[in-house]
Amino acid sequence: MLIVLHHSAKKKDIENINKTIEHLGLRPVAIPGAERTAIGVIGNQGWIDDGPFRENRAVLEIIHVTKPYKLVSRDFHPHDTVVKLAGRTTVGGKSPLLVIAGPCAIESREQIAASAGFLKKLGVPVLRAGAYKPRTSPHSFQGMREEGIRLLDQVRKDTGILVVTEVVSPEHVGLVSEHIDILQVGARNMQNFDLLNEVGKTRNPVILKRGLSATVEEWLASAEYILLGGNPNVILCERGIRTFETATRNTADLAVIPLVKAMSHLPVIFDPSHATGKRKLVGPMALASIAAGTDGVMIEVHPDPERAVSDGPQSLHFGEFESLFRQIRLLEGFVRKKLAS
Ligand code: PEP
Ligand code: MN
Repeated sequence: MLIVLHHSAKKKDIENINKTIEHLGLRPVAIPGAERTAIGVIGNQGWIDDGPFRENRAVLEIIHVTKPYKLVSRDFHPHDTVVKLAGRTTVGGKSPLLVIAGPCAIESREQIAASAGFLKKLGVPVLRAGAYKPRTSPHSFQGMREEGIRLLDQVRKDTGILVVTEVVSPEHVGLVSEHIDILQVGARNMQNFDLLNEVGKTRNPVILKRGLSATVEEWLASAEYILLGGNPNVILCERGIRTFETATRNTADLAVIPLVKAMSHLPVIFDPSHATGKRKLVGPMALASIAAGTDGVMIEVHPDPERAVSDGPQSLHFGEFESLFRQIRLLEGFVRKKLAS
């Protein structure tokens, strides 16, 4: 429920309303905004009786929000959320387009060090690489796990690059959040609610990927778990969805970028690698997502894609990534400066 107040409402009125909300066993949420003063109400499991508020003279309007997500919605938070990445860069709002790149998986010290060195030199702020790999087949490479986290932490210290890796189990969240800047919840775990609750207890930025067949509403409801847990630093990531089409690994749903940005204040980024599964499609789709208004892109790149243990066919060679990175920066300048004005 949203309680919209008259412009003339005083601090005392707000305090009284907050007290009433708490008295009902619910939680008030201050909603910032230049145009209106409002208080959000959360913690209810059904319809809230708005009687106690209707009588209050400071109240202009009461809006019942029936969506399964509230904290992530623009109703409760009209302005763009800008997520800080270890105090060094930001994503969302008017931040520069965030570029995240790296191999699908950490395979060896040499492979991850070569990737980090190459990306750092180019000016890419965030290195991605999986230590725990949720693979469709149990016969596929499952990741270097704790050893992978150690290697990623080492390149992070050696080069100063920020790092993101996937967490697949609530028990790993403590260790990973200590050694890694940004956590990723993968498509297969988008509705692993214990995991969402656990990453909600940290303050690390969390990249929440859209599930393979998740609706936008389900995706936003999953983000709500993390915000409700107390972690506001969520970055949504579209990575393609499962459709009847098999010519591409997934179907890139670029329409959700402007759609979700209108529904939610959270930053939205795009992963063209998993969305297409094909190296040749990664560049064009990354550029298309920038035109669609994405806040960032996450791209798989590998020192030797032909020998990659996972997702080689969609991983760019260093040279390919370098020229795409140049195009991304050019298009970003055009879209942000020219199209926005
Ligand atoms: C990944 O980023 O390597 C990954 C496994 O992605 P997704 O969860 O989108 O399949
Ligand atoms: Mn991958």
